[in-house]
Amino acid sequence: MIGNKTIAAKKNTRFRESLLDTFFPKVCVGCGKIDTFLCPKCHSKIVRIKSPLCLGCGRLSEKGRYCPRCKLKTKLNGVVIAAHYEEGPLKEAIHTYKYEFVYDLKNVLATFLADALKREGFNEKYILTYVPLHPKKENWRGFNQSKLLAEEVSNITGLELMENILKRKKNNPRQIELKRRKRFENVKDIFSVNEEIVDKISGKKIILADDIITTGATLGECAKVLKENGARQVWGLVLGKH
Ligand SMILES: [Zn+2]
Ligand SMILES: [Zn+2]
Repeated sequence: MIGNKTIAAKKNTRFRESLLDTFFPKVCVGCGKIDTFLCPKCHSKIVRIKSPLCLGCGRLSEKGRYCPRCKLKTKLNGVVIAAHYEEGPLKEAIHTYKYEFVYDLKNVLATFLADALKREGFNEKYILTYVPLHPKKENWRGFNQSKLLAEEVSNITGLELMENILKRKKNNPRQIELKRRKRFENVKDIFSVNEEIVDKISGKKIILADDIITTGATLGECAKVLKENGARQVWGLVLGKH
């Protein structure tokens, strides 16, 4: 039986979509063509990463794993980066998705993440989760962009999604506004795990989804608390490196 709730939810989604179309007409983020947020031509200009590197030193490294020297500085096992941030309209697509509340771009962006996971051989032994927003910021924005991406990647790949495992204790300033050294201080000890489901982490290989990465400070802090609570491996998964 399909409940009235499902029908109501569908009507609601359609209503919201029609509202969004009115206030945010569909325009390609790359070329301005109407009726699409990313036309096929601009989509094809986004360049996927074929040879993953160690994020710390830039040496070639399978799966984006940290090399023996760089891994001493982070709790992350590695970072999977889907595409080149500066090539094609990837930057514009991420920005529009994140700051202009464009839900349609979520599916396109999640496909890049899912493809990168498949390419690097991450299978169903890995569990997906995401970088949490502070509740105040999530309320203000109306959604957590990383959570929605993780949900969609889970739908595409079939990898299990673990929700609400991490909490952000402090509503810290945005990393993008800070210099490199300050970024590590800004996120230090701001995450904790949800005590009610902490036993779910033990022995797990976890993939943390986020939109972009710069220094890896935020993902590294998340990895730290996950490993303190028994996670076996923690990997980052992002669209691009800024
Ligand atoms: Zn276009
Ligand atoms: Zn390295």
